[in-house]
Order: sequence, then structure tokens, then C-alpha cells
Amino acid sequence: MSAIIVNGAEIGKRIRAEVAAEVAELAAKGVTPGLAVILVGEDRASATYVRSKQKACGKAGILSELQHLPDTTGQDELVRRISELNARDEIDGILVQKPLPAGIDYQAVVNTMDPAKDVDGFHPISVGRLVIGLETFVPATPLGVMEILREHGVPLKGARAVVVGRSDIVGKPLAILLMHNHATVTICHSRTRDLAGVCREADILVAATGRTGMITPEFVKAGAAVIDVGINAVDDPAKVRELFGDDPRRQGDLQTKGYTIAGDVHPAVAEKAGLFTPVPGGVGKLTIAMLLKNCVQAARMRRDG
Ligand code: NDP
Repeated sequence: MSAIIVNGAEIGKRIRAEVAAEVAELAAKGVTPGLAVILVGEDRASATYVRSKQKACGKAGILSELQHLPDTTGQDELVRRISELNARDEIDGILVQKPLPAGIDYQAVVNTMDPAKDVDGFHPISVGRLVIGLETFVPATPLGVMEILREHGVPLKGARAVVVGRSDIVGKPLAILLMHNHATVTICHSRTRDLAGVCREADILVAATGRTGMITPEFVKAGAAVIDVGINAVDDPAKVRELFGDDPRRQGDLQTKGYTIAGDVHPAVAEKAGLFTPVPGGVGKLTIAMLLKNCVQAARMRRDG
């Protein structure tokens, strides 16, 4: 059996079009959603990611403002900036790009944000509202996973779902969303006993560990929906060969960039699963689209009528 391969780019495109339509509706009422992004330091991957977010905002008609600060910026300065952004009516969403320089407590910074502008869904108020099933901002990556499951009509009610990874930004919120949708959810982590055995019970298996290719076919029940959240840069040629054989695209990546991007699920799982998200091209393609959706939601909640 060979899995249906999810096309994250296609789903992302549809969501962006929906967002653009909603932005147009808001514009007709004189409201333009605004997103402020705080980026500290010169981390290249973060800078690239922030640029992608800004570009996507531009295309969707959302105003975006970047505050790029030196890596000498302290926590007090960040808190002061957030307090300014909290007070500005035209700013609907605030993002603080990770990682922050050592010594800054990311969560303490996020906690000073107006929860009404917490489009990343990391503020404790957002987390609490999610847990008790109230309308709130949900982190973009778990939202993207739910969108994929919905798009492909994967039954959730009564399904056995296993989420490998218990981070605050992916594993935990995703497990809660699956539970609210009536799946029977198991959360696994680095201390889980017989991980492969637990995973094999899953109708829906989600990997969010940051461990390249760790979910191999022996972890998967035939026909299961396997969702790979991992985004890992692999620069070891032997590992690339183990994962992708002689795939010319991967070998090309190694030669031109020095690495290729792989997920937490071994590509061989595509032969056993019923649904499979590739990396790249799967979940990652939805994350920014879902963030845009959260920005529009923020503008609607604060300023629409
Ligand atoms: P974290 O490092 O915060 O969490 C990883 C989780 O995986 C932890 O709960 C950890 O367990 C668990 N884990 C690690 N190793 C194992 C193992 N061998 N067996 C079982 N569980 C294990 O990662 P994130 O949640 O932030 O990210 C996970 C992956 O998703 C990364 O590859 C990241 O790059 C990617 N990502 C992708 C996004 C996207 O847009 N597609 C967005 C965010 C992340 P424990 O708690 O016990 O340590």
C-alpha cells in the first residue's frame, strides 16, 4: 500500500486565499489587520523565517512591522516594546521570534503581551482558554495539522491518536485539539516505554520530536494517517543516503546548500501509511498561512464592529 501524499502547498494556498478574502471584507469596513514582529539578534534562520512571514502578510493585505533589535537587547527593553505595541490600536498581533539571546526569559516576555494580540497562542490566557474549549488563539503549527486532517477527511471521532512530542508549541496544543475533536489521545515523549508499540495503535500518528527519521515503518499501523511536524537540517551524507537513497534532489541539496531538510518520520513510512505528509512540502507549508488566519481573527475580535 502506498499513502496519499499531502500537498501542504495546495492547502496553504487555499487558506491564504480565504485570508485575503477576509482581509478585503475588513478593508471595506476600514480595518487593515496589523502584525508586529520583534526579532532580536542576527540568527539567519530566524531572519529568513521572519522575512517569509512579512512577505506572506504583504500578499494577504496585512500590514506588518518589523522591530529588529541588536542581540544586546535586554528583557526590560523587550517588555517596554511590547507594552508600546499593546497600546497601539492598529497593531492586532504581536510576535516575538525565537530564539531570544541567552538570559532572556521568553515566556516572561510573552506574558506581558495583551492576550487579545497573542496571535502565536503562547500566552497563558490563550493556553488556558484552549484547554477549556473557549475561543482563543491556537499555535499555528497544530492548527495546520488539524487543517490537513480536515482537508483529507480523516475521521477524528473515536480515533486513536498518538502525538509523539509534548512541547508547548506543538505536542500539547495539538493533543488538546485532537481531544476536543473526540479522538482518544496518547501523548508520548522521551520517557515513553515501548514507543513503537504505542505508536502502532494509532489511527493518527503525529511526530513532533526533532529526531530525524526516528518514526520508521515498525512504528506505524498499516493505513494510518502519519503527520510529520519535524523540520531538521541533515548534513551527514550517510544519513541523507539512509533516508532518501540516491534521490537526486537530496543529493543536489547536499551539494548546493550543504544540507537537506528532513522530518521526524522516515520516508519509507509512505509505503505503509494511508496518509503521509512529506518534509518539506507538508505541515511546514501551512504554518505561516495559519498565522495569517490568527492575525485576521485578532483584527476581527478587536476592531470589527
Ligand atoms: P521540542 O524539542 O520542544 O520537543 C520535542 C519533544 O519530542 C519533547 O517532548 C521530547 O520529549 C520529545 N522527544 C525527543 N526525542 C524523543 C524520542 N527519542 N522519543 C520520544 N520522544 C522524544 O520540539 P518542538 O515541539 O519545538 O519541535 C519538534 C519538531 O517540529 C522539530 O523538528 C521542529 O523543528 C519542528 N517544528 C516544525 C514546525 C512547523 O512549522 N512545521 C513548527 C515548530 C516545530 P521530552 O519532553 O521527554 O524531552
